[in-house]
Amino acid sequence: MNLAIAAATDVGRVRAANEDSYFVDDELRVLAVADGMGGHQAGEVASATAIAALQEQLAAGQAIGDAIAEANTAVFSRASGDPALRGMGTTMTAAVYDDDTLLIGHVGDSRAYLLRGDTFEQLTVDHSVVAELIAAGQITATEAETDPRRSMITRALGIDFDVAVDVIPVTLAPGDRFLFCSDGLTTMLRGDAIAALLRTERERDAAATALIAAANDAGGADNITVLIADVVGDDASDHGELPSAPAPAAPPDPPDEPAAETTADPTPEESPSDDPEAPRRRWWKRRPH
Ligand code: MN
Repeated sequence: MNLAIAAATDVGRVRAANEDSYFVDDELRVLAVADGMGGHQAGEVASATAIAALQEQLAAGQAIGDAIAEANTAVFSRASGDPALRGMGTTMTAAVYDDDTLLIGHVGDSRAYLLRGDTFEQLTVDHSVVAELIAAGQITATEAETDPRRSMITRALGIDFDVAVDVIPVTLAPGDRFLFCSDGLTTMLRGDAIAALLRTERERDAAATALIAAANDAGGADNITVLIADVVGDDASDHGELPSAPAPAAPPDPPDEPAAETTADPTPEESPSDDPEAPRRRWWKRRPH
């Protein structure tokens, strides 16, 4: 099996610049999205630096988890060496694939989803304050939609010398449709709305365009990046035709913690009207235990 991938990114309706970056390469068999954060143009530098390092590491034969760890080092080193870039960081949700398996590496609150048959499942766990609060039973998913802490992430590339990378394997099945996206999509659209659109619009590029349009219609409060990857047969194995009733495959292991449900909040309450770039992503530092 192989993946056919469509990608789209948009600045949205509020932000002055697009700090998301993405990367798709059919030869390296990789797809990646990164959502950069930092003052002035530092967010763009962070996400682009991470993507460039990922590409270089994968081309050199590194495994996905190690390649993302090296991307962390690249962003951290660059941030440490330039006062204008200090404190910048980025999420990264990336995957490499072969004929049978997609292997996701993940840090932050960008997301990977799988649409398989009747199920639409978030494969990644958000490294965010609200996801931790939901997992701890302190707030509900509904409360998280309006929680003022919902833009705070607890893990990112570029912030510390080391980073823990989640690695998530998924066995591919014919007909699978993956979505990788930045939070500019999932803070504007609920998961069921995203799933409905992915089910209805089977043409990849049109689906990517429609998701971005829907997020902008809902407010477009942040940069929006979507990658849609469809599992397709290669010519040698199935002559380009997918089976009409794909054999059920084992679902991926569920995340250790319940992930925050996607939210729909076209008017983020902490967004001051006098700041066109608000709300800025903020880091949340744990107190030492
Ligand atoms: Mn974002």
